[in-house]
Amino acid sequence: MVDRVKSYGEALLMEVIPMIAFGPVPSRRLGRSLGINNIPPKICTYSCVYCQLGRTLKMEVERRAFYEPGMVVSDVADKVARTREAGESIDYLSFVPDGEPTLDIHLGREIERLRPLGLPIAVISNASLVWQQDVRQDLMGADWVSLKVDAVEEAVWHWINRPHGSLDLSSILEGVVTFVREYTGKLVTETMLVAGINDGERHLKVLAGFLARLQPDRAYLSIPTRPPAEPWALPPDEQAVNRAYHILGKEVEQVEYLIGYEGNAFAFTGDVEEDLLSITAVHPMREDAVSQFLARAGATWAVVQRLVTQDRLVEANYDGSRFYLRRFVKPGADQ
Ligand code: SF4
Repeated sequence: MVDRVKSYGEALLMEVIPMIAFGPVPSRRLGRSLGINNIPPKICTYSCVYCQLGRTLKMEVERRAFYEPGMVVSDVADKVARTREAGESIDYLSFVPDGEPTLDIHLGREIERLRPLGLPIAVISNASLVWQQDVRQDLMGADWVSLKVDAVEEAVWHWINRPHGSLDLSSILEGVVTFVREYTGKLVTETMLVAGINDGERHLKVLAGFLARLQPDRAYLSIPTRPPAEPWALPPDEQAVNRAYHILGKEVEQVEYLIGYEGNAFAFTGDVEEDLLSITAVHPMREDAVSQFLARAGATWAVVQRLVTQDRLVEANYDGSRFYLRRFVKPGADQ
């Protein structure tokens, strides 16, 4: 599948129609998101130990053409039309490929040519190429950009993201700062926590200091919940994730978990158990906040006890207070 299409003409010759547009799929961050796969699987600048697509097949850093922009745009337009015909809504068009979307040299043009569809456009990038002015320029055209910041120290970065040999962390971090200064859309960061690699208190404090310079609209914390590229890339336990939340929360106003419960967060159902689980999937709730929530819902602490006994809710302590978090799904477990 890799290298399968270099141009529209070749695509026709090969009689291979790549699946570029997919969905829409429910996304907690973006609502109903129609995905755009503008990179063939799996070409990336990184080979993250936790990548759910497996090890990177082709490490690349030079931007180039993968598909003819007209092909990307017409595939997306077609999918949008069919989705609308079916009476379904779309909240975002999202570049979220099987690799790094900014490797696509036509990204900026594609964003521009998708504008007439009248939908906001998102790009989820690993940020490794934002030190380049042309990449920043392309991302500037999007309404919502997510940049990966897993590590701010050289050794940790090499360990978790396994970057292409020509990349330089300090240039990337400076590129992120420059982009954030220029960008006027919604900017979020995403940090994947892997047990024993980047979840230590000292590293998290340095990372929080870096995020403080960005002040993103949201800093998302995630953990591997699907089978990772390396079986030893495990999620930290709830205590460690709770600690990470509070360390980042000291520097950034909006920190949220992103741990695989897409779709139902903040959608209050009136079912106390379900609502408690959706809230605690997004951020830990302090004991007194849980009590207030139960009181408002006319429920008692027995609900919490039951969820703890069933191992669906977990208690964790931080800074002298007790918090409740939803039990994370471990890789390989059913979600
Ligand atoms: S940046 Fe994304 S696609 Fe690339 S290896 Fe890491 S997780 Fe996988």
